Amino acid sequence: MLQDKDRIFTNLYGMHDRTLAGAKKRGHWDGTKDLIGLGRDKIVEIMKASGLRGRGGAGFPTGLKWSFMPKESDGRPAYLVVNADESEPGTCKDREIMRNDPHTLIEGCLIASFAMNAHVSYIYIRGEYIREREALQAAIDECYDAGLLGKNAAGSGWDFDLYLHHGAGAYICGEETALLESLEGKKGMPRMKPPFPAMAGVYGCPTTVNNVESIAVAPTILRRGAEWFAGFGRENNAGTKIFAISGHVNKPCVVEEAMSISFEDLIETHCGGIRGGWDNLQAVIPGGSSVPCVRGENMRDAIMDFDYLQKDLRSGLGTAAVIVMDQSTDIVKAIWRLSKFYKHESCGQCTPCREGTGWMMRVLDRLVRGDAELEEIDMLFDVSKQVEGHTICALGDAAAWPIQGLIRNFREEIEDRIKAQKAGRVSAVAAE
Ligand code: SF4
Repeated sequence: MLQDKDRIFTNLYGMHDRTLAGAKKRGHWDGTKDLIGLGRDKIVEIMKASGLRGRGGAGFPTGLKWSFMPKESDGRPAYLVVNADESEPGTCKDREIMRNDPHTLIEGCLIASFAMNAHVSYIYIRGEYIREREALQAAIDECYDAGLLGKNAAGSGWDFDLYLHHGAGAYICGEETALLESLEGKKGMPRMKPPFPAMAGVYGCPTTVNNVESIAVAPTILRRGAEWFAGFGRENNAGTKIFAISGHVNKPCVVEEAMSISFEDLIETHCGGIRGGWDNLQAVIPGGSSVPCVRGENMRDAIMDFDYLQKDLRSGLGTAAVIVMDQSTDIVKAIWRLSKFYKHESCGQCTPCREGTGWMMRVLDRLVRGDAELEEIDMLFDVSKQVEGHTICALGDAAAWPIQGLIRNFREEIEDRIKAQKAGRVSAVAAE
């Protein structure tokens, strides 16, 4: 279990002073000038050695991503864009950073931007995060007043401006290239890749897009060393991580823990256990709504990290937004609801996603009631496979995976409903 002395986010719950003075007392903005003095290559090297993998869902190594930025400018400016769009159902970790510990992110923006040769950074914040935007903007203003941002930021000799941009509430703007389009004032529609943002990102210039948590942990990693961070979690799954646990636990919470903690420890230590006990656990979505659900009995011993959840349970850590569902949940209806969400949020650019998400939702709608033929289960699975991997952005995958998880893990539940409907025995859940 993570000890308090090893927590990066010391004000996640807003119990302490969130102003610059409070943040400094808790160790942030300590020796920032010296960290920048390490130089670009050294900073990237430390980030690589720390083993940090991106905290926005995909888990791409952060240091490596930074190293993709051009070493020498060809005349175009470089940018860091922070993805604070956090719209994945179940995910609510970055908001705690922004409203309660905003200086971790701002200091991270300065250092990361320096490491990528960027004098300007944008934070693109989700439209619904109004209080978070206010808190973050207040913190940015404080930093300008204190000389930590602007000309010669923090006395480092590096000029740096940080802008907070408010989105309008579209889920797809959390996709990095749609975010860049939106930032440029266009409709938030994902771009074809390549070119990748490191070559041509915002305004056609080299850009790195990083998640809030990935940037906010960087200063502490540099201060405490790569080895310290790499000391948490299993190999290739290093560090501390913010988990957001919602649903049928006794005390839902957002908590920073060591990566690779077991699911049981996470739930027992921080959430007061499963509502109604472990035998009452039906299913868990371990990484935000887009990853496949896992049967409850397979989750108890699960290790909460990228590799275990993907390789052993065919799911994913995603954003570490853990959605717990007990036996009272209508699991088919729960996945139908997610399906409806993805259908609604599809930008409509590519046919498999535009047509497939609606088609899959409509079939699921009937499966909830059992009003279908048994063969349609396989047909639904097949169609989800035709959507997965055949679209411009990952929303197609995000729409397909929950359905695939449902069919893989709860096929008998769907079949029972269809049989009950045919026999005129409408189950209690389906009748609701
Ligand atoms: Fe738009 Fe869906 Fe295609 Fe992504 S996969 S670009 S959301 S239509």
